[in-house]
Formats: sequence, C-alpha cells, structure tokens
Amino acid sequence: MTATRVLVLNSGSSSLKYQLLDMRDSSRLATGLVERIGERTSRLKHTVLTTGETRETTGPVTDHAAALKAVAEELGRDGLGLDSPELAAVGHRVVHGGSSFTEPAIVDDAVLAEIERLVPLAPLHNPANLTGIRTARSLRPDLPQVAVFDTAFHTTMPESAARYAIDVSTADEYRIRRYGFHGTSHAYVSRETAKLLGKAPEDVNVIVLHLGNGASASAVRGGRCVDTSMGLTPLEGLVMGTRSGDVDPAVILHLARVGGMSTDETDTLLNKKSGLIGLCGDNDMREIRRRVDEGDEQARLAFDIYIHRLKKYIGAYYAVLGRVDAIAFTAGVGENAAAVREAAVAGLEELGLAVDAGLNAARGDGARIVSPEGARVTVAVVPTDEELEIATQTYALVGASHDLT
Ligand code: ADP
Repeated sequence: MTATRVLVLNSGSSSLKYQLLDMRDSSRLATGLVERIGERTSRLKHTVLTTGETRETTGPVTDHAAALKAVAEELGRDGLGLDSPELAAVGHRVVHGGSSFTEPAIVDDAVLAEIERLVPLAPLHNPANLTGIRTARSLRPDLPQVAVFDTAFHTTMPESAARYAIDVSTADEYRIRRYGFHGTSHAYVSRETAKLLGKAPEDVNVIVLHLGNGASASAVRGGRCVDTSMGLTPLEGLVMGTRSGDVDPAVILHLARVGGMSTDETDTLLNKKSGLIGLCGDNDMREIRRRVDEGDEQARLAFDIYIHRLKKYIGAYYAVLGRVDAIAFTAGVGENAAAVREAAVAGLEELGLAVDAGLNAARGDGARIVSPEGARVTVAVVPTDEELEIATQTYALVGASHDLT
C-alpha cells in the first residue's frame, strides 16, 4: 500500500491544531483542535471530513503529549490513526528556524537539538513545537517527522534587509536580525498569485499582505522573499489585533525609565494590549467596521491607523521591488474585509493600484482578482492554506528521501 497521507500538527502554547490530508488530491480527511491544554476544561473538537461527523469531548488534558494521544485515538476510531500504513509522515509547524533552517527538515536528533537551541528566540512557541514532535515520534518511532519553519521562506532576504543598523558584534552575539514569520503563508500565497496571473513564480513580483489577528507583509521577487515586516519576533511591522507593530524602540526605554515598567509588563503591553485592541478595545475587524459604520470615532481612528501603516508598507515594498505585478490580500482580514482592501489602495492610482468596487465587494471562495480590468498592478484576494503548504512540503521531502534510499 502506498503511503499518501500526511498529518499536519500545529502546536501552540495551549492548543494543538491538526489536519490529515491525502496528498493524491490534497483532500482533507480529518481536522480538529485541542484547546485550553493544561486546564481542567480542555476541549477536543474532531471532524471527520469524509463523513461530516463532528465529535467533541471536554475534560482535563494535562499537556501536549496527552493532547496528541487523544487526537491519535480520535483518528484511530475511523481507521485514520497514527498506526495506519497509509500515513507517510507527520508535518510539524515550527515557528522559529533562525538562520539555520532555510528549508523544511526531516527530524533527527541534530534537528531537534537545533530547534531547542533556538528556544530563546521563540520562548513560547518552539517548546510547544518540540513537544509535538517528540510525542509524535514516541507514538510512531518509524514514521518520518518533518519540521516546516515559519521563518524559512524569509531566509533569502539580502543582508541589507535582514540586518538591523545596530552594532554588528552585539547583533551577532545575540543573533539579532530580521527573521520574519508567516513564511509558509507568504510562500503559498505568492505562488498562488503567480498562478492566478498565469505566470511562473520566477516571472512575477508580488507584495503579500497576510492580515489575520497577527499580520505581516512581504516583498517577493521572482518567488524569493526580499523583505518582510516582522522581525526578530512577530511584534514588528503592521498594526495587528493585539500587537503594536512598529514603534520607536525608545518607547520601551521611556516606559522603563519614566513609567517604571518591567520587561514583562512592556512585553504584555506591546504584544497583548496594543494594536487594534489597545486603540479601540476590539481586535475583530468585523466589530470595528460595525462601530465605524455607526459613527464610533475611536473605532474610526483605530481603522485609520491600521490602514495608514498598511499603506506605508505597500509603498515601501513597491520601492524595494521596483516593479510590482500583484498585491495579494490574505488571511482573515485580507480575505474578508473589502473595506480594508479598498482603503489600503485608495489614492494610489499613480502607482497603478486600484480596486473595482463591484469585484472587491463580491464574495468568493477561491483566489480572485479585484482590480479593474487592464490595471497595471493586479490586486487579488488569495486565500491562504498553511496546512496544505506544510503537507505539500512534508510530502515532497519524504518522497525525495525515499527516492534516495
Ligand atoms: P489568525 O490565524 O492570525 O488567528 P485569521 O487569519 O483567522 O487569524 O484572522 C482572524 C481575524 O480575521 C479576526 O480577528 C477578524 O478580525 C478577521 N475576520 C474574519 N472574518 C472577517 C470578516 N468577514 N470581515 C472582517 N474581518 C474578518
């Protein structure tokens, strides 16, 4: 029997999301998540996509190892378990691959040690990712495990974009540089955008705007990332749901010196209490738009700040690329909020950028063009699919390694 299935695992600090895909046709067989891991009220929601059946269980799930075991049991009830001979590999989302991982990697002890070494760069995420890998390995030691890194797509950035202008020896000692995140999404969306234009990725320059709760922009020249807005951590760049994005670094010094704020307090302020929620008390763009439509000034200002930052990055990446073929909007806000797309390109007609009001307002499932016919730059909505991208990269690597043996 040929093994054609890939289980994709995304272990967050207190959650585990998963999808089982069949790579013959990229179809989903099952999907689900375990939430509130470590609490008494953990919840496992499992959907078998072939039958449409959804099962939910609640009760304490102590840690990620217990969560994955529960997931394996759920999958096993429909003959889709980790012991299935049709399972080719497990693909793990790993947040930080530093400068070491420019590609996905088949997990061995050396890869695990390197992900561990990168924990100081992603103290919340990499430990959870490591636990996911270790648990899957212990449940099926013979099965290839592949680590797919959020940072990998951005490792092609030139030094001029990746280095901060701070003392070189200090930067090198602490591995301080722009790494960028959401890489699987930027890779997938930039390729899908080329497809939408009917061109090869090598022949197009794209600005990708990944606007979810976390948000990042990237400049992609001929399929390779040349700049991205997130930096050493996912805090830099665009205004996000709860993160500030760019601020003068001296704000942090000021808060410490004048406000007496500790490192942890500033961390919480900038990562959890800033961005849209800090500006207007809501981080969901649907709610913000509803308030704007009702004339709420605070929501209006939050929206305007969000758009102003977005526009600055569009302009910056236009300049970085020199020639732009397409701008792709993706993730929860990018795919759904027509008002954000419209406002982001408003007034940029001189740059060849505009949306067609009708096309932009129309809803649709797949990738679609929302700029007027004949526009110099195509503005597109391109739904992201990070799980499919992880599964594709995992399957390609496992297939390739099989060919070698
Ligand atoms: P993440 O994966 O970063 O948690 P998503 O890409 O799922 O986020 O995006 C979530 C966000 O998308 C929500 O916080 C909300 O602001 C926004 N969103 C989802 N649906 C809509 C919609 N119909 N209109 C406007 N915004 C939406």
